[in-house]
Amino acid sequence: MNGIFGDYTTINSSRIKSIVKKVNDMSLECERITTDTTKVTINNNGVSFQGTREQEAFINKTNEFRRRLRQGETLDDIMVEALALVREAIRRRLTTKDNKRMRPYDEQIEAAISMLGDKIDDTHRERIIAEMKTGEGKTLVQILVAYLNVLEATKEEDPKKRSSVHIITSNDALARRDQRDNAGVFSLLGISSSFIPGRDANKPKTLAEISIMKQRKKIGYMCDVVYATASTIAFDYLDDNIINDVRFRNINRKPGFAIVDEADDILIDQATNPLKLSQAPSTNGSEYDKYLIERDNETRAIYKWATEFLYGKLRKGPLKAKIYDQYFENKDKEYEGQDYTYYKDTKEIKISKKLAKEIGADLGDSIEDTELYNARYFALLDCIKAKESFHSDVEYRVEVNDGKAKIVIIDQNIGRKKHSSKYVGGMHEAIEAKEEFLEQDGPNARKRYHIEYSRRSAIKAMFTYPDFLSIYEHNVCGMTGTSDEEEFNMLYGFSTYRVNTRKRNIRIDQEPEVYATLIEKYNAIIEEVKKCVLTGQPVLIGTTSLRESEVISSLLSKNFIRHQLLNANNEEEENQIVEGAGKFGTITVATNMAGRGTDIKLGPGVRELGGLYVIGTSRNKSSRIDRQLMGRAGRQGDPGKTKYFSSLEDDLVKEYYRGGVLDSIIERFKGTNKPIKNKRIISAVEQSQIKRESKDKKIRMDNERFNASFMKHRRIIYENRNQVLDSNLLEFMTMIKSIITRYTDVLIKTYDKDNIKKLIGHLVEVDKLYSKNTNEFRVNIINALYDKFTSNFDTKKTTNKEVQVYVDNIKKKILDIIDKYWLDHIEYLEDLKASMSVGMVNDPFKEYEVISTEAFANELIPSMYNEMITYALNPSWKYGSYKIDYSFKEEEEKYIL
Ligand code: ADP
Ligand code: MG
Repeated sequence: MNGIFGDYTTINSSRIKSIVKKVNDMSLECERITTDTTKVTINNNGVSFQGTREQEAFINKTNEFRRRLRQGETLDDIMVEALALVREAIRRRLTTKDNKRMRPYDEQIEAAISMLGDKIDDTHRERIIAEMKTGEGKTLVQILVAYLNVLEATKEEDPKKRSSVHIITSNDALARRDQRDNAGVFSLLGISSSFIPGRDANKPKTLAEISIMKQRKKIGYMCDVVYATASTIAFDYLDDNIINDVRFRNINRKPGFAIVDEADDILIDQATNPLKLSQAPSTNGSEYDKYLIERDNETRAIYKWATEFLYGKLRKGPLKAKIYDQYFENKDKEYEGQDYTYYKDTKEIKISKKLAKEIGADLGDSIEDTELYNARYFALLDCIKAKESFHSDVEYRVEVNDGKAKIVIIDQNIGRKKHSSKYVGGMHEAIEAKEEFLEQDGPNARKRYHIEYSRRSAIKAMFTYPDFLSIYEHNVCGMTGTSDEEEFNMLYGFSTYRVNTRKRNIRIDQEPEVYATLIEKYNAIIEEVKKCVLTGQPVLIGTTSLRESEVISSLLSKNFIRHQLLNANNEEEENQIVEGAGKFGTITVATNMAGRGTDIKLGPGVRELGGLYVIGTSRNKSSRIDRQLMGRAGRQGDPGKTKYFSSLEDDLVKEYYRGGVLDSIIERFKGTNKPIKNKRIISAVEQSQIKRESKDKKIRMDNERFNASFMKHRRIIYENRNQVLDSNLLEFMTMIKSIITRYTDVLIKTYDKDNIKKLIGHLVEVDKLYSKNTNEFRVNIINALYDKFTSNFDTKKTTNKEVQVYVDNIKKKILDIIDKYWLDHIEYLEDLKASMSVGMVNDPFKEYEVISTEAFANELIPSMYNEMITYALNPSWKYGSYKIDYSFKEEEEKYIL
């Protein structure tokens, strides 16, 4: 952050550079470490194995560092020596493609030191993002940082107190490659490393394969250094919080440190989508599953109704809409004759009073009718959104196979299809209903296929990216080629340290060109590419969407220009294609994010032609992503060239300029086939990007503010859950006692004797326990409940094994109860958030916090305790057979109304 003394980089650069100097001073000493390859038996923290004398020398150092940390030295005390050592290990174990030794440059040491952060107090260090341009060697820096983090994470001798270091990369293929390449360095230093594949990779088929894969995963997470993507780790962690047997746990070693590569991609661009673990209910599943399926069918019927209503099948004609590009001007007006108003920029919808009545014209005002009315109302909102802002082939695709069609989401960042994803909160259902209607009933119905409805899956666990980072016990740091300092700071509390490029950047960034129409823009791009075809200069054309990639590709084909279109479904292939994009005469069309992290090396002779030419076909939703694409040219002091093309018909521009005005400008400038020179128009294009950036930023910030409560609740629930899961008999008894005590306190504080009787009368005789003295009453209840719990034990259980089975049975029920309440709460919070953002309250964040905290503390926790105690005291009851009787509460509420 910028303070009065300058920004983070300025303030810290001399401190960091002086450490780099000290590391350099130790180089010779480290180079003198023995290279003797004679075999010896090495003892590394209790594990003996055969290794070389060289390895022994390095491992001894590692253990010496650990010991010093254990004895009270800090990371700062050992930093210089440890960095010098790992630098030497890298020099001995890694080579460049042309077989030279790879020795970390000073800039890489500098980046590593910055990422370790300055000490804040005894237990905390700063959270840092190092900004290091593409091609400067971030992969290597991660090894340096990981080694120092591992020393800290494994300084204790007790394995239970050790944690691991996760290196989080943007895709599976890179994680696999980096781990494979670097494992030798780690092993020389006595550090274990692993790669954990993601869920989509090589889906195991047989039970045996699944069990091997799970076993590998478990072993993988026991390593000192773990390479994986964010979603792999996040989902494994979520999985661990829905299991009901510790043997199924994936992550058995605490996550201690995280090093996030391409941090802006993972932590900013993906941050708006929470990580959700969901599962479709099965038809032959539990009672709960059956209930979900029934509910799903009802939902379908309502979305069908809303779609037909919207398109006019159920009324005299389609609904009349007024579309606004900008929200604030017309926010409070109601328009005559319009059924609804749609605000494009905020995707908000206002329904006219007349329409609101019409929705329920055929309904009465019984409770059922009111419920149906509400369901129709909200479904209609979703269907309007599906009509106005979700377009086939842009946001999603209809994939037809044998008369059956599916809606497949297109990832807006990378343009890849997301086969296993669904829109949430009713949007998927709305889109499916729309596509089915248009194909079967709509004005241009072609009746070629039916939509095969997806089954609505129930969320089983969820968290957000900032929440995800909070699982790391010690610290988190990151790296990126293009940091957004302000946003990283506000969302995650990161400071950014900028590392200069090793060689001067000689890339030529040409002035962007703006055309009036899309066609003119595309023609200009093709002309530009043609010039390169003549010389053989390689071109990387970065598009903002899959659709645009395809348009460009077909235009190139029409002009007989050979090129590779990158729409591979597989990351490995994708990386390979991008890797070759710098070869002589290669033209590559790819969405922006494709192959990110892959190093593009220039082919022979390309340097003389001016290096790689990167063409952007539209401005991205943020200038940071534009810079990311440009950064692919001119790496490590290579020559390179970039240019951005835009048109006034680009989505980004249309998002922000009112139809009428924009149309007349386009009209004025179109047809010249020349870029527009008018400065104001050019800056208007830039403005639209800036506006979009700040809007997106606001959405992310808002999300974060909403998520604060969710995060708090999730932690409490997971902590409780893991306590139950991990407890031994004694701990379990103590826990039950404490739950009984806490619940009794709530009872005494909130209810009178009669209502207490309703709540726990099925467990103990409240009348007999009653005393006018509140404290006596309280103690009596606690004792009676606990006595009942323990009496079950004493009379029936004799052998240890019996006790174990008995306790496990209660534990499972308790876990079920926690899950049920938690999942309901997740849904509740999502709904609450949605209702807050419609703009009905003054301070939605405050309101959300108050309401959600109230729901959690005063509703969820007491009800959950009640059920837990009930089953703990009646272990022979079938789970699900007991319902809390809150009838008295409803009476009260009615009375108030
Ligand atoms: P980034 O992630 O910053 O874009 P990479 O880690 O992919 O960069 O590295 C880019 C290229 O530079 C790779 O081919 C890598 O092997 C090479 N490289 C990195 N560090 C060094 C070094 N110290 N000496 C020689 N080559 C290096
Ligand atoms: Mg990289």
